[in-house]
Amino acid sequence: MEQRIAHFDLDSFYVAVERVENPRLIDMPVLVGWPGLRGVVATASYEAREYGCHSAQSMSQALQKCPQAIVVNPDMAKYREYSDAFHRILLKRTPLVERAGLDEAYMDLSVLAANKLGDPISVVRELRQSVLDTLNLTVSVCVAGSKPTAKIGSAYAKPDGCLEIPMGTDASFLSTLPIRMMPSVGPKFQKALLEIGITTIGELGNADSKWLKMRFGRQGLLTKRRAQAKDNSAVEYLPRQVKSISRESTFPKDLLGNTDLLAQLLKLSESVSNELRESGRAIRTVSIKIRWSDFDLTSRQKTVEGGMHSRKQIHEIAKGLLETELKINRSRGVRLLGVGLSNFNDEQFQLPLSSEAAQNFYRNKSIETALQEIHGKFGSNSIRRGH
Ligand SMILES: [Mg+2]
Repeated sequence: MEQRIAHFDLDSFYVAVERVENPRLIDMPVLVGWPGLRGVVATASYEAREYGCHSAQSMSQALQKCPQAIVVNPDMAKYREYSDAFHRILLKRTPLVERAGLDEAYMDLSVLAANKLGDPISVVRELRQSVLDTLNLTVSVCVAGSKPTAKIGSAYAKPDGCLEIPMGTDASFLSTLPIRMMPSVGPKFQKALLEIGITTIGELGNADSKWLKMRFGRQGLLTKRRAQAKDNSAVEYLPRQVKSISRESTFPKDLLGNTDLLAQLLKLSESVSNELRESGRAIRTVSIKIRWSDFDLTSRQKTVEGGMHSRKQIHEIAKGLLETELKINRSRGVRLLGVGLSNFNDEQFQLPLSSEAAQNFYRNKSIETALQEIHGKFGSNSIRRGH
């Protein structure tokens, strides 16, 4: 199975965020970066680029080229918030997302496509729209057969572009592009290639391996493989920092008896499962917490092998734990009930994509996703999975 990989790249990210927050900057030449002699441009708006400004340029040089540019100091905390929201949108669709910087991500669409759960270009279009609707930011995307090609393609599609390279045609797409489009070819490498008459990525793909190795070592050979669209590195899902997910309810009056408590437990289990699904991760441990009417606290937990992500499985474990406690404490009122998920198993999503486990995961996930969508539309009382 050929990989189908999308590379998402938010367009002039820092400038775009500044414009969402301050619409007066729209259509103006903007430089985000530190002013002063030693300052550097982090992002230049397209208007400023027309004057020859670009990122990594010194601020004083940029201002010589475009003296009317508006300089805005970077606000990293704000960019991080937007970045997290951007990645959350992608992760809602599939956990197979690799964060490649604040404004970039790779997404593996192969498994979704193989299971008929979304044609890559439709998924990408839907996500571009979602990013625009939610964050007011445009993102350029390319779907290709490998990570390096997708990255080159998204730069090619900029700004606000969407490009699909048909299956099996990565190498021919790359062949006519100038070598400066290769992210791993720096100015020194470029100069050496130009000296021997190599100007396009296609020519780089045909360059003599011995010479490349002698001149640039392993990096030279890797770049050649990328130029030939033969670098099939997998999308690496990066675990995030959250250590647990939990929800609890304190009741207006103490609850007694299974019926009411089990109904509350179902709500709490659904809520933690929804958040788990948004994170795209799997967990091993489900716990419950009970505060009795006399303020005594009981916690119970159960850990399973492997990992789980399904609402049904999580609810069943929580229910088992609660029922056991209620059997022992028949006449005790409950003041507060909580459900927690912990012990993340982040290897769950790094399974080889062709593996049966990964495919089963997606089959289950499609049911879960459908349920979640219905809940989102009609409220969580409208549908219950049959047990
Ligand atoms: Mg970008």
